[in-house]
Amino acid sequence: MGLWAAVHAERRGIRTLIADAGRLGEGASGGLLGALMPHMPDRWSEKKKFQFDALVSLEADIAALEAETGLSAGYARSGRLIPLPKPHLNRIARGHSEDAERHWRAGERRFHWHVLDRPDVDDWVEALAGDSGFVHDTLAGRVAPRSLISVLIAFLQRAKHVRIMEHAVVAGLDPDRGMAEIGGESIAFRHCILAAGHQSFPLLRDLTPGLTQPLGQPVKGQAALLKVDIDPALPTIFLDGLYIVAHEGGHAAIGSTSENRFDDPFSTDAQLDALIEAARGIVPALRSAPVVERWAGLRPKAIDRDPMIGSHPDHPRLIALTGGFKVSFGLAHRLAEAAVCIAGDEHCGFLLPESFAISGHIAVASR
Ligand SMILES: Cc1cc2nc3c(=O)[nH]c(=O)nc-3n(C[C@H](O)[C@H](O)[C@H](O)COP(=O)(O)OP(=O)(O)OC[C@H]3O[C@@H](n4cnc5c(N)ncnc54)[C@H](O)[C@@H]3O)c2cc1C
Repeated sequence: MGLWAAVHAERRGIRTLIADAGRLGEGASGGLLGALMPHMPDRWSEKKKFQFDALVSLEADIAALEAETGLSAGYARSGRLIPLPKPHLNRIARGHSEDAERHWRAGERRFHWHVLDRPDVDDWVEALAGDSGFVHDTLAGRVAPRSLISVLIAFLQRAKHVRIMEHAVVAGLDPDRGMAEIGGESIAFRHCILAAGHQSFPLLRDLTPGLTQPLGQPVKGQAALLKVDIDPALPTIFLDGLYIVAHEGGHAAIGSTSENRFDDPFSTDAQLDALIEAARGIVPALRSAPVVERWAGLRPKAIDRDPMIGSHPDHPRLIALTGGFKVSFGLAHRLAEAAVCIAGDEHCGFLLPESFAISGHIAVASR
């Protein structure tokens, strides 16, 4: 989120300091999966429309950065296959197919929610996984998280208006005076965009009197990377919380656990083994594929579940940019642009859904 914000600030010529407590991109964003999954096309809302527009626009935003840096982000609109294990799910999917025809439109572009009897790709998910058919959605995609981060960092390293500080903890944040202690230096700012992932919540809490609950929480996730000779254009498989994502370079990523309670944020355990087994159960190509990496991270889940964006009501120079939870990769470029527009007092050409406003989250956490 913060890297995208710095990219948008650079494009607008805004003098920017990006500070990270560790190395850039080694928080939750430095993982393995990178699925870009649309919300269901039914019960259309401003939130779903925002995510749809973000998923459509990401393609061009990434292409521009790739052209500017000469690096690949491992992006593809490879779609998603959803096995339907029960007959009633097939009926529901047919309704969603009509919803997608109505709502998944961007100018001349159309995206679909096809309902199929069998998977329409070979050597990937077993037909048995979908007793009652399959959905193939053509809007979903994937990006290689670490490749995308490398692209963003490469852009920022060449940027004219951006200074990067790594291993620089932001502390003593005083948004009303516009001062912070960053890596031992006193830094003055006009606006501070707080994109510290799940660590944004305690920082914001300290600046928000009267809360009765935390503004958000970390939710642990575990994922794995397997080495396998597959076509990287294969669609992501999604079944009951299990994701199997085909990536470039002969890799498939499997995820993710969702753990509200955990002892060690960064360890992996039997819960990940179970996901790998489940993936191998429905994808024969993965059965003998070696696991090359196991990884865990902490997702930022805001109290109201939606992203948390915007000026803090008591400290207008402080702009929150967090709470992407499970869908950050498809939204971050747009949310970050909105945050930079707020800082520059500029209209972005798109509206943020009301439920993303930090004021709403604060209201819920104050009840
Ligand atoms: C296993 C797993 C699988 C996932 N799969 C997907 C997926 O398929 N698709 C998807 O869209 N999302 C996915 N997510 C969610 C996604 O990874 C996160 O929502 C996203 O990375 C959050 O980005 P962020 O920039 O808000 O936070 P982060 O990437 O965590 O970045 C926050 C940064 O702030 C820095 N920081 C924190 N505190 C301070 C401080 N005081 N001073 C300075 N710096 C500080 C940290 O060092 C870090 O670099 C997954 C998450 C996990 C764990």
